[in-house]
Amino acid sequence: MRILLVEDDQMLGAALREALRDAAHAVDWVHSGEAALLAMRSTPYEAMLLDLGLPGRDGLGVLQSARRAGYQLPVIIVTARDGVDDRIRGLDLGADDYLIKPFATEELLARLRAVARRKAGHAQAVLSTGTVRLDPATREASFGDTTVRLSAREYALMYALLLRPGAVLSRDDLENLIYGWNEEVESNAVEYLIHSIRRKLGAAAIKNVRGVGWVIDRAPQETPRGRADPA
Ligand code: CA
Repeated sequence: MRILLVEDDQMLGAALREALRDAAHAVDWVHSGEAALLAMRSTPYEAMLLDLGLPGRDGLGVLQSARRAGYQLPVIIVTARDGVDDRIRGLDLGADDYLIKPFATEELLARLRAVARRKAGHAQAVLSTGTVRLDPATREASFGDTTVRLSAREYALMYALLLRPGAVLSRDDLENLIYGWNEEVESNAVEYLIHSIRRKLGAAAIKNVRGVGWVIDRAPQETPRGRADPA
């Protein structure tokens, strides 16, 4: 997932970025509310992790501005234990969840998985089209009888495709979803990842649409009706 981390505390921010990257997320870290709103304009984030106590415009102000501007991304508020009024206000302003400092990294990761799947319109933890499955908790992917554990980047790419079954994603789309700022992206990185996943899972797991991009087909019995489009 591509995540916007809004945190002015240097140590906490660095630790969070590290933990999120280890968990296969692409993270852009900003230190102020203004920078957060600016970043949202240029990048399609899939979630925001929002500290409330920020210099300048505080977290609640950022949330309010973001929702007013129509940004739908899931927002998890990060706040101090005694901030109960702020947490309530945050939820009422459109936050999806909150975490109380200090928190365990594993809990943050689980909450991110939860808000992401709710946004995508499904309640099950495992993403599946029937033939292709991906378990965000273990990073295991299955296709037919084959089950493999994916690397962080392979997982991020599979997740991006499987969250939008039937949608063809271009190389640019995928780069934007799986790499953060300041990350060196080789020109053929996406192709390399696709190749590597196909070698592990089977070539038919991901379809190539010549000149356009890649797609994981919807389940045959699945209809678009009643499904939120996360794209
Ligand atoms: Ca702070």
